[in-house]
Parts: sequence; structure tokens; C-alpha cells
Amino acid sequence: SVSTDADYLSGLNPEQLEAVMSTDGPLLVLAGAGTGKTRVLTTRLAHILNNRLAYPSQILSVTFTNKAAREMRERVGKTMGEEVEGLPWLGTFHSIAAKILRIHSELVNLKSSFTILDTDDQIRLLKQIIKAAGIDEKRWTARYLAALIDGWKNKGLTPDKLGADDGFAFADGKGIELYKTYQSRLTVLNAVDFGDLLLHNITIFQKHPDVLKRYHERFRYLLVDEYQDTNVAQYLWLRLLAQGSNNVCCVGDDDQSIYGWRGAEVDNILRFEQDFPGAKVIRLERNYRSTEHILGAASGLIAANKDRLGKTLWTEDAGGHKVSVTGVWDGPAEARIIAGEIENWKSKGRSYNDVAILVRASRQMRNFEERFIQLGLPYRVIGGPRFFERAEIRDAHAYLRVLRSDTDDLAFERIVNTPKRGIGATSISKLQQAARSMNVSLEHATRTIIRTDEIRGKARSALRAFLLDVDRWRREAEDTKHTEMAERILDESGYTQMWRDNKDAKSQGRLDNLKELIIAMGEFDTLEAYMEHVSLVLDVESGPQEDEISLMTLHSAKGLEFPLVFLPGWEEGTFPSQRSLDESGMAGLEEERRLAYVGITRAREMAKIYFAANRQVYGSWQSSLPSRFVDELPIQHVDVESEAGQYNPSRITDRVQEDFGRSFARAQDSGRTSPGWQRFQKNKDQRFGRAPKDIEGHAVRRPAKGKVSNYNVGERVFHTKFGYGAVLETDGTKLTVDFEKAGEKMVLDGFVQRASEV
Ligand code: ATP
Ligand code: MG
Repeated sequence: SVSTDADYLSGLNPEQLEAVMSTDGPLLVLAGAGTGKTRVLTTRLAHILNNRLAYPSQILSVTFTNKAAREMRERVGKTMGEEVEGLPWLGTFHSIAAKILRIHSELVNLKSSFTILDTDDQIRLLKQIIKAAGIDEKRWTARYLAALIDGWKNKGLTPDKLGADDGFAFADGKGIELYKTYQSRLTVLNAVDFGDLLLHNITIFQKHPDVLKRYHERFRYLLVDEYQDTNVAQYLWLRLLAQGSNNVCCVGDDDQSIYGWRGAEVDNILRFEQDFPGAKVIRLERNYRSTEHILGAASGLIAANKDRLGKTLWTEDAGGHKVSVTGVWDGPAEARIIAGEIENWKSKGRSYNDVAILVRASRQMRNFEERFIQLGLPYRVIGGPRFFERAEIRDAHAYLRVLRSDTDDLAFERIVNTPKRGIGATSISKLQQAARSMNVSLEHATRTIIRTDEIRGKARSALRAFLLDVDRWRREAEDTKHTEMAERILDESGYTQMWRDNKDAKSQGRLDNLKELIIAMGEFDTLEAYMEHVSLVLDVESGPQEDEISLMTLHSAKGLEFPLVFLPGWEEGTFPSQRSLDESGMAGLEEERRLAYVGITRAREMAKIYFAANRQVYGSWQSSLPSRFVDELPIQHVDVESEAGQYNPSRITDRVQEDFGRSFARAQDSGRTSPGWQRFQKNKDQRFGRAPKDIEGHAVRRPAKGKVSNYNVGERVFHTKFGYGAVLETDGTKLTVDFEKAGEKMVLDGFVQRASEV
């Protein structure tokens, strides 16, 4: 008989308990953030093991990341009060599919030693295929074809399943043929790409019922977390496997679907009941993670999405802190204020481990990292390396090191064939050999060797061309600003282009990081000063510590929770991202809003949102608009950190702007000491001489120090972000303007000019 009074079951609410105990038949747990979906899954797993309903090797559990798999293993162990042996089929879709494919590879004509290609290899192979087909690779790029093929694979479409029309997306109807060629080339190379892992599994299961039957017999229970983010191929794979025991349990939340851009389909949730007849659906409504205000703010925000199933959430954790919204001057100020908040938190006896900063894009991390290093606050970057340790940043630094020194062998070696210039491993080891025997640097050896016959053909001409570039850059660097020089080198070396050509989802982030690098350099007067800073920063990075602040993107935060969560950069163009705004249609924007929902619901005690009035883009300052998501937060759950009582604004951003205006005035009175302000001034003055102008070259009036505005009520003014409008009211340096397009706004008079002077 099955026990129900085990310790690990006692804390569950009735719905959770039902979800844990309903081990027979298909089950869908559809519930909002923090309602215990993952906890149910873990407990269910423990329950199955504890009651000996199956051996560990008979349970298939799918998590979204490897990290989540590790955590699940730990949590099951804790729940059962002992270390869990085995669980060989706990992992991500990819890792489990790869394991199955290694066993049956011969059924799809592969050896079990097959290699899994990375994106670079994939593109290189596609290039060859496109060229061999006589297609213009400039017009029909390998990158584009790779994206098409990935899309097809995510949908479970092998070449034979595609309609004739599908091929027209590439080179006037040649798409399918090229896809076929690509697949047969992969077979010859005994290789697969990521999409193939699941697709080959599906093919094997469909063509070899005996194999599928073995898995049906093996997998008595199937468990899937973050089900809303599965794509069609993953769904088909799961359905095939689940048809055996029919004991499949999926948990998910349509409001947290954030991988649509990678082919995830929320419709899989809707299909579940159709495809698994008799499926039980359990909804969990009690949130155990967050306080009332956090939950209220998140629920109010997500209500703005049209495309959702809708659900109720409640918590017993009444009251608590409201979600705070703070306007700050610029990025560095944001980092300064947040770091201050964290020090404050720590001084109250709380730990750094309790704290997370969740950003939309990894480029946003740099300001925080620099501030933490400066203050000596321990931190870790989750889901990626720290800013100065990122591959693209190290590559860029290697270029700069070569620029500065002709004896920096490590840097030279790193970039001599990055991007690929046709200088292979053999040539490089020849250079190293020469350098050793001549007892000179790699660069010196190269200069000598290319005048000999030791190296010939493409490698020789590539090395020559490269050294000519290096010589030219060194000459130009003598009278060119270091930031400009860095941009030039990255462009002319083909390094930036290399990432533009890479269709990996992460390459846009890398390009953004390179832009952020230029901004970082701009904070120092010379290249030497900057490089000195970098070496100090890299030096600080000691081993892992016990107590650290977590810094990560919103995407990597899925499923996690922290008592204190900071959400910086809530500005239009950053969050929602520019890309989602540029795309037509609401789908992209709704996905961004779900990401915001994921962000807020990570918080247990406090969620703090920030937006900056100014951001540096490409080394120049731009004023930014608060994210539309800020105004979508229900005001009763939001705290605008201000003395705003005397106003009655309808919009949160107006309040923040008002408050911001005041603190800005304070900053001015205190002698304009903020580094952000000083940098802002310096930058403007440097670029435009004495009379400061804004980024579009319009004259910018400095905020008047006397408390009287330069403008009169009724006067027509122009603002670079909001456009034309009429002054409604003046209050010191602040103006209330009725903008023709943007509506009523509170702005600083330093940021507008007379319409007649535009
Ligand atoms: P997400 O959608 O963010 O992935 P989730 O639905 O998976 O959230 P969990 O992470 O499983 O939620 O649970 C959220 C928090 O609530 C965890 O700290 C968990 O331990 C706690 N929790 C869940 N159920 C209960 C319960 N019955 N009693 C006490 N705490 C619970
Ligand atoms: Mg979860």
C-alpha cells in the first residue's frame, strides 16, 4: 500500500498533495509562479521512489537546464532524507536525447562516437554546401539557412516532411534540397547538430517500434518541469515516450513562457488534454514564495497580456514591502544606489546569497561588476562568465594588447586567427617553434618567417596582411582617441563581423558587450589607464566564496527565488528590448512582459525596480524613457520612493520623474558631485565645445541654477524624446509640458529648447 503520512508530504496543501499522489495516468499542473510546481515534481519523484513504485532508472525527469537537474537531484535527496543513487534519466531534453542516441546511433547510420557540432562548425559546413550548389553565398547566407534548418528541426520536420513551398524560403526553392544535402553530409562526418539529437530520437522511435517498446517498458514515470517552454520536437519526443506507461506529469505556467524566440510553443499546454485523453489538470493557486504586494504587482502587470489562459494567485503572506520603483540619473548611479542598498541589507545581518540582480541583457552587468569590485562586494555571475572574462572581451583585449606591445605572445596567439584567417594550427606551431629557436617574440618570429618559405600559400598571405594591419593600427593609434581606435580595430580586423555572421542566439549579446567595452574604455583617459584597470579587476577575481550576490539575466533566473531582487534598466529599448519593439505585432512585447513577470516573481520579500534617465549608447549619452511596464504595475502595490504625497499623479513614471527632478536639483545644489553628472557634462562639452548640445546636435540649456525657469506658460518647446509641446506649468527648473504626441510630461528645462530655435 502507498503511504500518505510520510514527512515530506505533511506540508503540502490539498491540491499539491493530489498532484503528488496522482501517479497513475497523465497529469498537467498548470499554475502561476511560486505555487510549488517544482516542489510538487520533486516530491512526486521522492514519493515514487519511497513507495518503490519504480526504480530510479525507470523514471524520466526533464528539467530546463543542467543546473536545475542538479538542484532536483539535491532536493529529492533532501526530501527523502538520503542521497539518491542513480537517477540516470534526470537531465535536460538534450542530454537525455544524446544518451539515447548514443545507444541506437547505428539505426540512423551514425557511429556511437558521433560528434555534436557547435554553431561555428555548422555554419562552416553549410557554407561549403551553398557554394557547391552554385548559390551566391552573399545573397543567401549560411547563417540564414542554419536558422531555417534549426526552425524546421524545432518543429520536428525532417526534409521528407517539408512541403514543396517550405523550400522557397531559401534560394528560390532550393531550401529543402540543401537541408537534405546537409543531413547526408552530417552522416558522412559522423556528426549531429543540436536539433538532430531529438529529431534522430523521434525517427528511431517511429521507425523501430521494438526500440520504442523498450523505452515504454523502461520509463514507468515521466516528469517534466517548465513545460511551457518546450518546442514541438520536444513535445513529439515526450509524447512518443509517454505513450507507454501514460504516467506523464508536466508542470508549467503559460505566463512564464519566455523562449518563443527559440521555437517554444505554449500551445503544447493546450494540446496536452487532447493528446493524453483522460488527463487530469490540477491548478495551484496559493503562492508560497512572495508577499502580497510582490504578487499583486506581478499579477497586475501580466494582466496586460491578451494571450494567456488566466489564473488566480493568492498568498497568506499579507503586506510586506511594496515593490519599489526608483528613477536614477544614469547607469553608474543605478549601480551605486543598488550596491548601497545591498551593503545596507548586509549590515542588517542578512546575507549576500539572499540578493539577486536580474538584467535584461548581459551588457547591463558591467556597471554592477565594476561597482562591486570597487567596494569589494563578493558576487557571482550565473549562466555566464563575468564581464571581463567573457570570450569576446578577452579577444578584444588581446587586440589591444597586441596594439600596445609586440612581445605579448599570448595575446598575439589568441587573435592571429580570430576571426578565422586561414592560419591553421600547423602554421601556428611553426611560428612558435621559430620563436623558440630564434629566442624572440611570436610576432617577431612571424615577421621573419613570412619572408621565408617555411610558410606558404594562404597562411603566408594572411599573416602578411594581418601584420600590415597591426602596423597601420599602431601608427594610427598615435593620434587617435583610444575608444575610437578600439572600435576601428574590431571592425577592420573582421572581429565584429565574425559575431554578426554568427547566428547563435548569444551573438547579439556579444556584440552588445563589445559596445559596452568601448563605454568602459571611455571612462579612462588613455588605453594604458584602462588596461591597468582591467588587470586590477581581473586580479580581484578570487575563487568562489560562501556568500555572494547573484548577477544574471532574467532568462537564467527562471525557477529560482531570492529574498531581495533588484530589477534595473526598466527603460524602453532595454526592457522591453529594442528588438521586441522593432518587430511588428504584439507577440514579442507580450513575451517581454512575461519576462518581467518572471523577474518580479523571483522575489520573496522585496522587489526593487529602477530606471535611468540617461544611458550611454555607443559612447554618447541618450535620454531614455521609463519602460511601459512600470506604468502597468498596479499603483496600490508600488512604492515610489519619494515625498510624493502632495501630488496626485495618475502615472507611476510621472511620480518618479517628479521625484527624480527633485533629487536632481539636490545633486546640483550639492555642487554636482555625482560622477555620472560630471561625466555627462564632460562628455557633452568635449564633443561639442563650449555650448553643450544633445546627441542630435540641438543646443542644450543647462538647468538654470536660479530657481526660475527660462520658459513661460503657453510657450511652444521641443524635447528630443517627446517632440513638440506647450508649457502648462513651470516649477523652478521643472516644466509640465503637454506634448503633442507623448501627452503630459514633467521634464527638466535643460532638456528642452524653444520651438522657434530648433
Ligand atoms: P516557478 O513558477 O517560479 O518555477 P514553482 O511553482 O516551481 O515556481 P516552487 O519553486 O516549487 O514554485 O516553490 C516556491 C517556493 O514555495 C519554494 O520556496 C517552496 O519551497 C515553497 N513551497 C511550495 N509549496 C509549499 C508548501 N506546501 N509549504 C511551504 N512552502 C512551500
Ligand atoms: Mg519551478
